[in-house]
Amino acid sequence: MMDILIAEDDMTSRHILKSIVKKWGFIPVTAVNGKDAWQVMRSQDAPRLAIVDWQMPEMDGIELCRKIRSPKTNDPAYLIILTSRDRKKDIVDALNAGANDFVSKPYNTEELRARLNVGRRMLMLQSDLANAYKALEHEAMHDQLTGVYNRKAILNILQKEITRAGQGDQILLLGMCDLDYFKQVNDTYGHQAGDSVLKKFTQTLGPILREKDRLGRYGGEEFLVIVPDCGHIQGFDLFETMRRHIAETLFPAGNTQIRITVSIGVARYDDRDDVDSFLARADATLYHAKQGGRNRVIFNQDAASR
Ligand code: GH3
Ligand code: MG
Ligand code: MG
Ligand code: MG
Repeated sequence: MMDILIAEDDMTSRHILKSIVKKWGFIPVTAVNGKDAWQVMRSQDAPRLAIVDWQMPEMDGIELCRKIRSPKTNDPAYLIILTSRDRKKDIVDALNAGANDFVSKPYNTEELRARLNVGRRMLMLQSDLANAYKALEHEAMHDQLTGVYNRKAILNILQKEITRAGQGDQILLLGMCDLDYFKQVNDTYGHQAGDSVLKKFTQTLGPILREKDRLGRYGGEEFLVIVPDCGHIQGFDLFETMRRHIAETLFPAGNTQIRITVSIGVARYDDRDDVDSFLARADATLYHAKQGGRNRVIFNQDAASR
């Protein structure tokens, strides 16, 4: 069932249209003048299909079409102008104003029905296309195994956060996380078990992060966590909570359960950083965490003094 706007000031015509489109399986939404119709069409979940009378008080159908068309959108409405005008010039004007189709009054009911069905088909194709696009876009940005941001996406986000942090005075932290002795998991329990550990790892971190924090897979068993707008203590607590939760979680591996730990190197953004230097500092700090015995969070101390 599809909503359809009927914008028609003449009460009799409006009622007739309303009842026939209902019979054809549409859900009619009516408007008694152009302004009224504009309110309907700019609202959330507005109908995507509309029958628009040309001559209406407040705002005529042509201006209404222009207004509906003015913001660019990827799901434009399908607009049918219905009018007693029928000169070639009128048709041209209506189409130029953004109407998809033009029907002259008095209209033939079967013709109107056929034209509405063309509109419905167009809209369905359009929405299939939009959905396919959204799915591809999601796929292009997310890691297939874990569903978190992939390397390209998390680095894009990092670039944006660096730009934002450079303009303000909020603290921006970058944590580079690397699972400890992960090769052993694969060697002992198999690659599939390794995969499911990686999945569970991200699922465990998800609920700990704040809404504005971002988690992405940097590669293999390495993950980036971007933590913007936070105090030092809050940031440290967050990474420490992540480390502890991972250490306390049981991970299924084959028909047994194992423990995993993570080492995290955290760098604080300073305004001379670009993506590469910021990553390099987080990575160098991670190296210290590994050297220091793993299963620990280390903050890059030289960030402030550099
Ligand atoms: P360290 O504590 O020093 O980090 O030791 P490690 O064993 O974790 O480090 P190393 O770099 O030697 O090994 C990383 C392993 O991660 C090797 C690789 O097979 C495994 N790995 C990387 N990506 C995946 C993946 O997608 N799935 C699985 N199952 N394993 C992966
Ligand atoms: Mg009218
Ligand atoms: Mg590694
Ligand atoms: Mg590792």
